[in-house]
This record gives sequence, structure tokens and C-alpha cells, in this order.
Amino acid sequence: MNWDVVIGLETHVELSTQSKVFCGCSTAFGAPPNTLCCPVCLGLPGSLPVLNEQAVELALKAALALNCTVTPVSRFDRKNYFYPDLPKAYQISQLYAPLARDGHLDLPGGRRIRISEMHLEEDAGKLHHHADRTAVDYNRCGVPLVEIVTAPDLTGGEEAVAYLEQLRSILQYLGVSDCRMEEGSLRCDVNLSVRLAGSSELGTRTELKNLGSLRAVRLACEYEAQRQIAILESGGQVRCQTCRWDEEARRTVPMRDKEQVGDYRYFPDPDLPPLAVGEEWLTHLRAEQPELAHEKAARYARDWQLGEYDCATLTSRRGLAEFFEQVVALGAPPKQAANWIMGQVLRRLSADGLAVEEIPMSARSLADLIRLVEQGTVNRNTAVEVFDAVFTGGDPAEYVRTHRLEQSSDTEQIASVAADVLAQNHKSVEDWLSGKEKAAGFLVGQTMRALGGKAPPALVGDVVRQLLERERS
Ligand SMILES: [Zn+2]
Repeated sequence: MNWDVVIGLETHVELSTQSKVFCGCSTAFGAPPNTLCCPVCLGLPGSLPVLNEQAVELALKAALALNCTVTPVSRFDRKNYFYPDLPKAYQISQLYAPLARDGHLDLPGGRRIRISEMHLEEDAGKLHHHADRTAVDYNRCGVPLVEIVTAPDLTGGEEAVAYLEQLRSILQYLGVSDCRMEEGSLRCDVNLSVRLAGSSELGTRTELKNLGSLRAVRLACEYEAQRQIAILESGGQVRCQTCRWDEEARRTVPMRDKEQVGDYRYFPDPDLPPLAVGEEWLTHLRAEQPELAHEKAARYARDWQLGEYDCATLTSRRGLAEFFEQVVALGAPPKQAANWIMGQVLRRLSADGLAVEEIPMSARSLADLIRLVEQGTVNRNTAVEVFDAVFTGGDPAEYVRTHRLEQSSDTEQIASVAADVLAQNHKSVEDWLSGKEKAAGFLVGQTMRALGGKAPPALVGDVVRQLLERERS
């Protein structure tokens, strides 16, 4: 039997605000436990939430980039449940009138994934399990989240990963979130079911949680699809359950029967007024939207004839794309700039353990260095040496000058050095005269060496050959 896999994703993204969504506490990651809390985010009696405008603005930017229709007046609801990481015993979320609906995201291959809705909510705290006890840290309580829910449009683990990569790129370009899965600022739950190929009816789904990396998403989808198919093929029925991905055992483990929306006793939050978003605000945000990765990639290919791989690499992070564009704007040929950035710059960043947003070298320095190579002032090998020296600061031209690294195009000087080399390598000259072409290459190499590499190899080759021809006569 042939089966189709049907996947919908619910992605929680922490918004990059300075303060929490309903109070003034900091959202910094990694602070000592329970140091970033106040009566509001701890839900103490008498405290009242006040909505953070910046959180709404970031969520709206995401909604517009994902082609959603923004709800003119959205509302906040309480989702009630008890868990030790939730001191209020309810989470402020949006159920009946979410922030935005009916958007889509196009995958690089062209497939369109529908976004059914996006809503704003607050994060819960974090539990730390130790051998003999569990500790709770409320610092994360009240950090703003946007939840992005897709329609069941994804067809497998690979496609789910492609969707998350594209979503992450868009949100990072917008500055909406840093989307660091390892720090939990992007988390995703998978809803997965299978059905007979060609059938239009959805099968019973399970929900997969605890997916800490893109690799885990792909493996969990593949494992769970096979598990469900095996059940159905042996005549059984899939249970509507919530499962946990066990990273070590590489399998999904059922946790509980999946709760239904009614279990949460949602009701409108009486402490928060409705959120009205006017057309004027949206017009302003649309005008501010930056060029996104896939738009940049298309422009690089069209205007600068860069290949698909170059375009994809350069636009993979906004910081890298911006650095590249600055270097080109300062006069470097785009292909040269691309090669230097994808080669030497990425090599140094990785060696120094730096992120692309932390390139210490200025765009001006790299553009100057590329110009020195183009003008023949230094050769390629010397240029790499100069690059390493000025990567953390310094002027390439000055470095070349003070270290006497200019190549010589002085033919007379080259000829005088080459004549010495020929005189000291009589055997090679004899070899060449008797027809051994390779001997010339050796002599060119020796002359380059004697010149300290500071001459254009083609010019040295010409000079050496002229001298050899003279030996023949
Ligand atoms: Zn607080």
C-alpha cells in the first residue's frame, strides 16, 4: 500500500523585545534563575498586565511578511491549565480573534505552504530536572511569543525542515527573532498523520513535542510516519496522542492522550482591552520591510550574474549579505567580493568563533584589498597574508607598504634575478636545451622564489623564456 504523510507545524518564536510582553522585566537569556521576575509575570494578586507595543509591532512585521490578513481588532484569552512552570495557572494567548490569519510561505522549490493563523502569547517558565529534585526558573515567564500555525500542507520531514529554514530566514531578516533553536527561541510542534495515497480524508494525527533541532524534526517525522503506517497496515488504529521525541533512542514516546481545545476552558482575559490595529500602522510597517533573502538572491543572480550557490550562501544570513553589498558598493567586482567572503571571510569567522554579525574587518578594508589584487600590486597568495593581518583591523595598503609586499613589475630587475638563477642551475638549462620542457617550469619557480614571490608569475615566465631562447643561439 502507498501512503501519504500529512504534516502541519505549530512554531513558537520568541520575539526580540527588550522587555516582556505584559510587564517591564528584561527578556535577557542566561541570567541567574528567578532574577528577571515581578508581580505581573509571577501572577501575584492585584497585579495587572500592560501590553508591550514593540511585541505587537514585531508580530505584525512577521504577519505581513508571511502574507497574512491582520485582524483589525484582536483579543486576548486565558488558556487555563496547571503546570509548575506556569505560576498564574493560565497563559495569556489568543484563541477567538488571533492577530492574523490566512497567509502563506513559499518554499525555495516553489511549493506554497498555507499559514492558517498567527497569534501572540506569553511564554512559560522553565523546569530544570536534577537527580533528586526539579527546580523552576520563572525568568522566561511572560517573554513574548508568536505562534505560527500552518495548514496540513507539508508532505514529509524534509519539507518540514525546508519550511522551518525559510521561516527562520524571513524572521531573522525582519529582526523579529534570533530564532536560535538551541536556546529555545524557536520551538516547533509537529502534527502528523498518514492516509492512503490519493485519499482526501485526513487520518488520525499525533502531536510530536520536544524537537530541539532541525535534525530532530526530520528524524521524528520519518520515525512517526513509519510507526503509524505499521499500525494501520497491521489492522490497528492510530490514537490521537501527544508524543515526545527521545533524542537518544531516536524514537517517539507517547506521553498522554491529546487534549482538546475545550480542556483549557478558554475565556476572554478581563484585564486586557481588545487590540486594534489600524491600516495606517500596517502601511508604515509595509514601507519599512527590508528586502528578504530570496529577493536578494534573485537580484544578485539578475544584476551580478552570480551562481545559485553563491547567491544562497551570501544571503543565508542578513549580516553576511549586507557586508557583501557594502564591499560591492565600494567598487569591488561582485564575483571577486563573493569569492573573498565565501572563502577567506567565512574561514576566519569560523576559526575565530565569530558570528557573521561580528565581522571585525570593515567593508572598506576588504574592498581596498581586492583593488590591490586587481591592480597587480600584490599577488593572490600575498593578499591572503595581508587579509589575515588586517582582519581584526588595519589598512591593507599601508600594511603592504610597511612590509614591502608589493610585487615587482620591473622587467630589468626580474631579468637580473633570473640570469643569476640560470647561471646557478646550469644542468636545468642544458636539460631545457635538449628538449625537456619541464626544466623551464623549474627555473621559473626558482626565480619566483628568489624574488620572494613578489612578481606576477606570468611576467616572470616570459622573462625566463626569453633568457633561455638567448642561450639557444
Ligand atoms: Zn515581570
